[in-house]
Amino acid sequence: MSAPSSDANPAAVKPANFLRTIIERDLEAGTYAGRHFAGTPGDATHHAAGPLDAARVRTRFPPEPNGYLHIGHAKSICLNFGLARDFGGVCHMRFDDTNPEKEEQEYVDGILDAVRWLGFGWDAPDAHAPGQNRSHLFYASSYFDFMYRAAEHLIERSLAYVDEQTPEDMRRNRGDFTTPGTDSPFRSRSPADNLARFREMRAGQHADGAMVLRAKIDMASPNINLRDPALYRIKHAEHHATGTAWCIYPMYTFAHPIEDALERITHSICTLEFEDQRPFYDWLLERLAEGGLLAQPLPKQYEFARLNMTYIITSKRKLKQLVDEGHVSGWDDPRMPTIVGLRRRGYTPESLQLLAERTGASKANSWIDYSWLDIALRDDLEGKAARAMAVIDPIKLVLGNWSEVFGSDDHTEACSAPAHPQRPELGQRQFSLGREVWIERDDFAEQPPKGFFRLFPGNKVRLKYGYVIECTGCEKDADGRITAVLARVVPDTKSGTPGADSVKVKGVITWVGVHDGIAAELRLYDRLFSEAQPDAGGKDFLSALNPASKSVTTGYLEPSLRDLPADQRFQFERHGYFVTDRIDHRADRPVINRITGLKDGWTK
Ligand code: ATP
Ligand code: MG
Repeated sequence: MSAPSSDANPAAVKPANFLRTIIERDLEAGTYAGRHFAGTPGDATHHAAGPLDAARVRTRFPPEPNGYLHIGHAKSICLNFGLARDFGGVCHMRFDDTNPEKEEQEYVDGILDAVRWLGFGWDAPDAHAPGQNRSHLFYASSYFDFMYRAAEHLIERSLAYVDEQTPEDMRRNRGDFTTPGTDSPFRSRSPADNLARFREMRAGQHADGAMVLRAKIDMASPNINLRDPALYRIKHAEHHATGTAWCIYPMYTFAHPIEDALERITHSICTLEFEDQRPFYDWLLERLAEGGLLAQPLPKQYEFARLNMTYIITSKRKLKQLVDEGHVSGWDDPRMPTIVGLRRRGYTPESLQLLAERTGASKANSWIDYSWLDIALRDDLEGKAARAMAVIDPIKLVLGNWSEVFGSDDHTEACSAPAHPQRPELGQRQFSLGREVWIERDDFAEQPPKGFFRLFPGNKVRLKYGYVIECTGCEKDADGRITAVLARVVPDTKSGTPGADSVKVKGVITWVGVHDGIAAELRLYDRLFSEAQPDAGGKDFLSALNPASKSVTTGYLEPSLRDLPADQRFQFERHGYFVTDRIDHRADRPVINRITGLKDGWTK
């Protein structure tokens, strides 16, 4: 494992994406130009009867519906749907639901939601109905009939056999990296015997594990994946889509290439750990195409390095453990690296797309620093998010000479500020200054440290968009804790008025009026883990949990933030990017999450 990348300027990195190069080359060479596509998945005959495929390339995103998607899946989604979009193609949304028992509708719905939220869809023009769209949402379990037929075809051609060795013998006879495997005693059975046996398997005459169907390739192959891989196993289990229709189920390595071919995928993109499976992927599809079952040209598999990011974990099992043991509030806890978690935290689809783009597609495994995600978020929101003032850790500031200057303690001075400094079209925010305002507790120091330019007795600062004030002291309770900061307003220094600059100050602080501020629950999130690689080398990742990953305060918001809808993002001046919580926020009881600060506090 290489060290975490410390490159703090991802925007300057030119991402390598070898997949684009491959697709460009294929398009230039016309590799897939003469392809027919029937509009729905199917075998060679089915597609031959269809028109030429209007999609120049077909990719797919094929999750197993057995959990919530995480940031690594987001990368794969952006890559597959993004390549199809950029090259005039279609990306299929396919559930790889060939494994009974584990799948649940909750996960199917969650996955579809996540892909849509990221900005992608699977509707594309219908080959048979010009001007209309058709959904390209597929379920691998609907190909079980074809898979079974393909298996019988291989048996008939002596390319597959039923093996009745015990699982232990099978494992032993597979050999290892240095020792070739040994042929099974069942390897030489006749196709007719194998076919009969396989039909018994299908008819439910044998117990789970009693036998498997294996490809007949080469037990001495240097690639262990070619040493007669298993194609079908017996599993008396109910499937969420096909019920009890089947008691044998295809292995992933057999099912996946077939799914790609039936859907006429051109570029089948997966992560590097499948590289050694590619020879079998090709072997299987070529044999089935020779037999006339699958249409040429066949899909090709390409592998890229998975996304590894510091300060998170992406193993579904470990994420589940965090949820089950209550270390987080659920799959959508804003500290989780799941797509639902990132979404609730406030990360935008655009920021995740930007991250996927900037991390490119490469053949070498590497680590991306978590700061890349925050940088992408800031790059996305900087130009979009409305600005506002908020006080996160409030203490009251009292302007003692207020009625002297303005005639009454109840007087308020109208102030305004642009909603966005570079976008005048977004208009002005209105708020007002009164005798009492909320300021940040750490903007006052009774004994200022060196270089402190904010409030301390005798010092002047500007209340942003308001007046210059001069600190006169503070009030304390019996325990010596500061309960209020005292100051006086300096007349004729209001921002935007002619005399505003007559008094020079080094510090400008943000504030919210006590009379018009809105109380809000602020949830300040930080990284869930305090170690860069929390689960490296089998380490106990729970011991790396960051105890300070969440803190909750009651803060105050400027009045322009009244009646906010949920899922609304803004920049709190000086503090960073925030979002109203999707789940808990109410217009009359604001709940706001910190997405990230304005600068990275971790890597520097
Ligand atoms: P995990 O092991 O993290 O649970 P998985 O591979 O079992 O993930 P699938 O549902 O099979 O999950 O994955 C769907 C797609 O997402 C696959 O094509 C897979 O290669 C891709 N994918 C999963 N994790 C990552 C990652 N970290 N980076 C890039 N792609 C990923
Ligand atoms: Mg998987």
